[in-house]
Amino acid sequence: MRATTLLSRVLNLPKTTVRAVEVGEEVTVWVRPQQRVMSCPHCDFRTRHRYDTRMVDSAWRHLDLGGRGCVLKLRRRRLRCPEHGVLAESVPSARPGSGFTSDFEDLAVWLATKCDRKTVSTFCRVAWRTVGAMCSRVVADKLDPDRLDELVDIGVDEISWRKHHKYLTLVSNHDTGKIVGARPARRPPRWTGSSPRPCPRTGRTRSRPCRWIWVLRSRNLFGRTPRRR
Ligand SMILES: [Zn+2]
Repeated sequence: MRATTLLSRVLNLPKTTVRAVEVGEEVTVWVRPQQRVMSCPHCDFRTRHRYDTRMVDSAWRHLDLGGRGCVLKLRRRRLRCPEHGVLAESVPSARPGSGFTSDFEDLAVWLATKCDRKTVSTFCRVAWRTVGAMCSRVVADKLDPDRLDELVDIGVDEISWRKHHKYLTLVSNHDTGKIVGARPARRPPRWTGSSPRPCPRTGRTRSRPCRWIWVLRSRNLFGRTPRRR
């Protein structure tokens, strides 16, 4: 079996074929797209008409391979989008504007939900600010747009840092047990118009994970009126 075929099967990149590979201090893999149709990275526009090809390779860091860093390289084509102008095509294995593949970002963001930031930064060998940018891209990509549907019972909690100069308010759905919204603020939010009620799950008015719990009746934090049950 050829090395390129082996790597194609091992990496299993969507709609991408391995063209060449070089193993040095890190593994460099040159790939090419399988589709002739190109997509705009910012909208749904697709075309077969190639504007031109970039003069340099684009590179994305991928998950480590055999204990070595792995970099994917691709000479991207450019297209003319009627809305966004001339720009390089999107690639199925990486999110727009990222220097990392989607698999690498998914791993780093999952680690960020489990570990402290120094552990994530050291393990992935990236700066913590880079992890923050990855989190933003993954959330924008995978956030459930229907998370506010049927939202009635919410729990609100907040954390503060920098000696109570910064706050982060978290809103959870008690029915599903998931976080549905978060918003940073410079002061704790004031809640009026409702009185604290016992948590429907724990029965306590002030449970440890949610200090204030309201049964949402008329509106939610995000300006949308949920349907009544
Ligand atoms: Zn576009």
